[in-house]
Amino acid sequence: MKTAYITHPDCLKHEMTQGHPEKPARLLAIQDQLQSQQLWDFLEHFEPVDASQEELLRVHTEKHIANLFKNSPQAGQPLFHVDPDTYMNEQTLNAALKAAGAGVMAVDLIMEKKIENAFCAVRPPGHHAEHDQGMGFCFFNNIAVAAAHVLKKYNLERIAIIDFDVHHGNGTEDIFENDPRVLVCSTYEHPLYPYSGRPTIPGRLINCPLKSRSAGPEFRMAVQKEWLPELEKFKPQFIFISAGFDAHWQDDMAQLQLNESDYQWVTRKMVQIAEKYSKDRIVSMLEGGYVLDALGRSAEQHIRALIGLD
Ligand SMILES: [Zn+2]
Repeated sequence: MKTAYITHPDCLKHEMTQGHPEKPARLLAIQDQLQSQQLWDFLEHFEPVDASQEELLRVHTEKHIANLFKNSPQAGQPLFHVDPDTYMNEQTLNAALKAAGAGVMAVDLIMEKKIENAFCAVRPPGHHAEHDQGMGFCFFNNIAVAAAHVLKKYNLERIAIIDFDVHHGNGTEDIFENDPRVLVCSTYEHPLYPYSGRPTIPGRLINCPLKSRSAGPEFRMAVQKEWLPELEKFKPQFIFISAGFDAHWQDDMAQLQLNESDYQWVTRKMVQIAEKYSKDRIVSMLEGGYVLDALGRSAEQHIRALIGLD
């Protein structure tokens, strides 16, 4: 598979506070692992431009976007607090615009048949950002911006968004709540931040809460029993993945016990669905994953499966 790796140096400049788990080194850990495992040269490398106002407005309110632009601090000014764990420094807006722009670029590269699938190594992450507010380390909902782009520009009728981050993607659920073109499939630890997640609606929203301490077998069972039959029925024309790796057993942000082979397994399943229904089209975007070596190894296995390597 021709797989793109999309990232931007600005994504390393967004920094909240010293010791904050959502830190620039996360992207370096992934890059380091891909280079040391000789995967770097298998990838086609791209740098995104900023997401436009028009692209952001498809999923966010004008008020939310204007609020981030207005409060983006100048150099030397204090951080702007979006919630108790989510702050903007003077580089955050640039990073967030590039992160959202990466998904748009990935969609265009795939639809123009320049690549088959893509991994966007971007931060800040996105899946907690709702229609009208940022939260949980997220400012713009990157995966939602990308999904809305393919729906609008290429008139697709059915797309799926897969989310295996350990936290529920409340933002993605909020944004596509009333859009029958979008099937959202999630696994997440419950109860856990952000304590959201509506009951499953077949054909629209497949939520699989997993109990604390659940491991690979429980995760794979949920994917096999809940996601795959719905994906087979829905026949998505494009697959988006909110790829959070914080359900790894080494990650102390939560208590699920996945390992990197689970990420490879689930990605292979999505590659198979994409081969069958979506002309191989997958855009995956980084969400969580906070223990650097576990993040590097998990992202490596995910990307191996996207490329089609063992
Ligand atoms: Zn997370």
